[in-house]
Amino acid sequence: MKTQILPIDEHSLGLAKDIIIKGGLVGFPTETVYGLGANALNDGAVKLIYATKGRPSDNPLIVHVHRDYDLSQLVTDIPDYAVLLAKAFLPGPLTMVYRSRGAVCPTVSCGLDTLAIRVPSHEGAQRFLKYVNLPIAAPSANISKHVSPVTAQHVFDDLDGKIELILDGGKCSGGIESTVLDCTGPVPCVLRSGLVTRDMVAQVAGECDEYHMVEGERVRSPGMKYKHYSPRCRTALFAFDDRFKALEEYKWLTARGERAYIMCDDEVARDMGDAKILSLGGDENAVAANLYDRLREGERIADIIIAVAPKKQDGVMVGVMNRLTKACG
Ligand code: AMP
Ligand code: MG
Repeated sequence: MKTQILPIDEHSLGLAKDIIIKGGLVGFPTETVYGLGANALNDGAVKLIYATKGRPSDNPLIVHVHRDYDLSQLVTDIPDYAVLLAKAFLPGPLTMVYRSRGAVCPTVSCGLDTLAIRVPSHEGAQRFLKYVNLPIAAPSANISKHVSPVTAQHVFDDLDGKIELILDGGKCSGGIESTVLDCTGPVPCVLRSGLVTRDMVAQVAGECDEYHMVEGERVRSPGMKYKHYSPRCRTALFAFDDRFKALEEYKWLTARGERAYIMCDDEVARDMGDAKILSLGGDENAVAANLYDRLREGERIADIIIAVAPKKQDGVMVGVMNRLTKACG
C-alpha cells in the first residue's frame, strides 16, 4: 500500500472520507498529537487500528467528534460539572469519559460500559471530523509503545505502507496527549494528565480528584499500565537536582566515543557547558510541545539520550513528567 501525505483541502478530505467509509484508516492532526482514525461504528475498521499499531486489545480508544456533534447519540448521564467543563475547555485537549449508550462498537472501549470522547481544537481535525460526520475512534498514529507523532512525517516514519493517507496539518502545538477525565462520578477525576491540568478543572468544576494506580487493583484507565513513548535508543533520566551528575555521565560517555545528547529545558542547558543539547525550550508549554519531537530526533542522531527533568514539577509538568518517565525512566 502506498502512503500519501497530503495538505488538508477538498481533494484530500474527499479521499479521507472515502477511506473512512470503506473501513480504512486515516492519519490526521490534532492540537496534541497525530491520530490514527477509523469509523467508530465499524467493528472491522476499529480492529484494524489495533492490528496496525500492534496495540494491546485491552487498551480502549478515544472517540473524536466535531464541535457541533450531538453527544447524546453516544453517551448518557452527562453531569452538570461536565457541561461547565465542556464550555470552558472544548474544543481542546481534554478527553471526557462518560457512560456509553452502546452506539459505537464495543471494541472501541474494549467492552467497558464507558466511552471516552474528545473534541479537538485543531482546525484541520475539525474539518476532517465535519467532513466525514462520523464518530472517529483514534489513538495516537504511531506503532504501539513508540514515541507519539507530532508531525505528518513522524506518522509516515511509523506507518508507511500500512495506511493510505496522512492529512498534514503541520506540527502539533500541544505536544502531549490529551488530559483524560473520568466524568462518571460525582466529582471529575483525572485519569491521565495533560495540558488541561487538575487545577484548571477544579477551578471550573469546584473540585477534581486524581487517579493513581494501586498495585493489585483493576486499572480504571487501562492505557496507564503500559510502557509508552520509548525512543529507539538508550535513555537515562536525571532529576533537576542531579543535573551535574547528568553532565558527568555525558562527559564519561562522550569520552568513550558514544554519541550522547542531553535533553533538557533552557534553564538546565545553562548549566551544561558546551554539551550537545536536544533543547526542550523555555517554559512548560514549550517543553510539552517539543518533547516528542526531540525524542524522535534523539533516536535518529544519538546512541543515548540523557534527559534532565525541569525544575518546575507542577501544572503542565505533571503530564510532561509522566511521559518523560515512561520514555526515559
Ligand atoms: P491513546 O489513544 O494512546 O492516547 O490512549 C487513550 C487513553 O484513554 C488510554 O490511556 C486509555 O486508557 C484511555 N481511555 C480510553 N477510553 C477509556 C475509557 N472508556 N475509560 C477510561 N479510560 C479510557
Ligand atoms: Mg498512544
